[in-house]
Amino acid sequence: MTARLLDGKAIASEIREELAKDVAAFTQCSGVTPCLAAILVGDDPASDVYVRNKRRACEKTGVDSQLHRLPVETKEDELLALIGALNTAASVHGILVQLPLPKQIDETRVLDAVHALKDVDSFHPENVGLVSQGRPRFLPCTPHGCMQILHRSGIEASGKHAVVVGRSEIVGKPLASMLVQRNSHLGPTAANATVTVCHSRTANLAEITRQADILVAAIGQAKFITADMVKPGATVIDVGINRTEEGLVGDVDFDAVKKIAGTITPVPGGVGPLTIAMLLANTLTAAKLQNA
Ligand code: NDP
Repeated sequence: MTARLLDGKAIASEIREELAKDVAAFTQCSGVTPCLAAILVGDDPASDVYVRNKRRACEKTGVDSQLHRLPVETKEDELLALIGALNTAASVHGILVQLPLPKQIDETRVLDAVHALKDVDSFHPENVGLVSQGRPRFLPCTPHGCMQILHRSGIEASGKHAVVVGRSEIVGKPLASMLVQRNSHLGPTAANATVTVCHSRTANLAEITRQADILVAAIGQAKFITADMVKPGATVIDVGINRTEEGLVGDVDFDAVKKIAGTITPVPGGVGPLTIAMLLANTLTAAKLQNA
């Protein structure tokens, strides 16, 4: 048996088409074009590619974008001053600080400085709190992408055992929080999972992952999830992006796991494209909130 492949590229393009219509309708009725300002500090090649892809996706969807490039030696105060200026710029609706930041800059201070209504990554404590209370303002992009993949592929989360491997603030924790809610903007079937969160101190990890109806890998280690860690027929969502000699690979040993799983996302072409689509959705939401 080979698992059904969940095509993140196709789902993302479907969402982008829907968004382009929503953006056009909003712009026509308000006279405002949503605008995303990206800040890139330093010259990390991977970050450069991410920012370029995000800007290209903006263009295709009718969202304006700005790129603020700062040198690697930028001081924290200089970055905070730029964020302060973007916070008050009426033409900017969403602010994205591309991570990672250089060592001399405190990431938490910087992310906390982004105005909560312009926080399209949903990293600000106010927005994290709203997500965890089940009344989100912005949904965090990658977890939201995972939910969209499940929902649009007809895979219900309700009543299922979802095991999330990884507890980062960006992926694991917010995804677990979204899956366990009583309801979601995609309806109750996209929520109401029984959720287990695993991390590097989890004992008997394989025993737990083998219980998952929905297994999410957000670990950051190439091919970490092997076939013996997966229940036959399970849905496997691979969030990982690892650069290896054989190219980009996920956190799941795809070739082996696809023989066991019922459905699986590939890398590349799985969760990645959805992350960008959900960022655009948040930029539109931000523009609407600021023009309410
Ligand atoms: P982090 O490094 O912040 O978190 C990794 C998590 O995995 C931690 O909670 C860590 O546990 C856990 N972990 C590490 N080793 C093990 C282990 N041996 N057993 C069990 N758990 C382990 O990573 P991110 O969440 O930011 O990213 C995860 C992956 O997703 C990366 O490959 C990243 O590139 C990718 N990513 C992809 C995105 C996309 O758009 N597709 C967006 C964001 C990230 P502990 O907390 O104990 O250290």
